[in-house]
Formats: sequence, structure tokens, C-alpha cells
Amino acid sequence: MKKKKNKKVKIKGDKKGYCNICGHYSKLTRDHIPPQGCIKPKPVELKTLTQHLSDPNAKPTVSQSGLNLLSICGNCNNNLLGTEYDPELIELSHKVASLVRSQQEQGLYLPEKIDLTVKPQRLIRAVVGHILAGKLPIPGKPPISEPFPDALRNYFVNESSNIPDKLEVYYWIYPSNKQIVINSLGIGSCIGQGFISGSCLLKFFPLAFWLVWDKPTSFPINGIGIPKDKFKDLDQTCEIVLELRNIPSLKYPEVPGDDRYIMYKDELSFLAQPKKPKGFKLCKN
Ligand SMILES: [Zn+2]
Repeated sequence: MKKKKNKKVKIKGDKKGYCNICGHYSKLTRDHIPPQGCIKPKPVELKTLTQHLSDPNAKPTVSQSGLNLLSICGNCNNNLLGTEYDPELIELSHKVASLVRSQQEQGLYLPEKIDLTVKPQRLIRAVVGHILAGKLPIPGKPPISEPFPDALRNYFVNESSNIPDKLEVYYWIYPSNKQIVINSLGIGSCIGQGFISGSCLLKFFPLAFWLVWDKPTSFPINGIGIPKDKFKDLDQTCEIVLELRNIPSLKYPEVPGDDRYIMYKDELSFLAQPKKPKGFKLCKN
């Protein structure tokens, strides 16, 4: 008997439904994850995290225009994400991309770390928006109410609200052309460092963002957190430090080492990599 295959990635959803961010029922609009200004959408092969971890030869789902999903309403997509928040994420990713490329292509020796000025309230909302958009809405039902996603949705739609107390936003350089969005990732320690029950992940060249909810202080994370000051408005800036040399493994944190385990919902995970041309064999990772 043939072994049951892992489920392929499903990217076709309903044209109308409940917006993954604000929860209103309307025509759904297509969100590109990450935004098109960060990475030009190209043909990609999509896999779920289970396929990626346990079935390397699994047949991927092909999308001709990057990872994009009908998942949010026009207001959240165009008026909020596209107009208010994406420009900050796009500007930061261009700055960091040129640094990483100058190292990769010209062999320039970069300092250990640099400071960058960002508008955290816009940057974090852009990341939150694309993560929430990175799953198909449940047909005929509003988003499931749970503390972590509710906090993300409320934070995104209320522009005067501050970063939720229990939310920490970690970031690091991610020099890979694979893109990953995972909406629900629990991660635990086998050596007594605790358990993170709610987190979500967005990784694309040149940055990774890991949003962690209610992290036990005992749980160490490879990455720097965006400061949690009280920011008075969307345009207030802060300095963030970017480590240029000491960066986590490309598979961090979704491929756990021996001392960690992960829990996730497969249908809430998307891994995209450039589509291989026909007849092309992959020699190395
Ligand atoms: Zn909406």
C-alpha cells in the first residue's frame, strides 16, 4: 500500500470571506508575503513545514508570483499595510540588503554591528500584518479568537495602541532566498528552559522577524529584541542594533536542535523557494 503523503500546500481560497486582520466580511484582496517592494515576486515552490522537515522530495505547490494569498480586506491591505506600514519595512530591508550584498559580492569586511534608526510602530505593524495575512482565512468563519492573535490584530488596527506588553519582536540578518511565514509556532526546551506557546515567524532576504508571546525569562533567544519603550506615535523613532557577523543558523528557529522541540499547525506554515528551472539539479543547499 502506498504511504500517505503529507498534504500539499493549499494557496487557493475564497474570493470573499472574513479578513484575517480586522475580521470584517468582505471581498478578499491578495497580499504578497513579503511585500513586493522588499522582494520582486518570482516563481516559487511552496512547501509546508512538515514537508520541509520530514519529506524533502515532497511535490511542492508552484506559485508564479511568489507567496501571495487572498487573505485580507482592501482596507487592511491597501490603506493600512500598503500605505502606512510597508514603506518602513521596505526601507529597512533595502538598507540591510545593500549591506549584506556588499559583504557577499564585494567581500567587504563589515563591522560587528551597526545601529539603524527605525519607526518601530510602523515596522512592527508591517511585520504583524504580513504574518496575519500569511494564512488562508477559515471558509465562512471569522478568525479564531485566542489571546496572542487577538493582541496582534488589535495592535495592528488601533494605530494609537502601544506594542502589547507580552509581545517581543526579535530580528536578525537572514541571508537566504528562501521565504518562510509561520503563523503558529510553539517551541519548548528539553533542558528546562521553559516553553513558548505562542510565536510567529517571518523570514525573507535579508531579515528574519520572530514575534514571541509571553516568553519565559529562562528561554534564551538568538536575536535582538526591538526596544519596548512607550512610543507616542507612529513616527517616533528608535535605534536598533543589527549584528552583522554573529547571525543565527538559516534554519533557526523552525528546525529545532537536539535540546528543543516545536509544535505547529501545518496549514499555517509556508516555505517558499525559487522555482528550479527544468532539468536543473540542486547540488548543494
Ligand atoms: Zn481587514
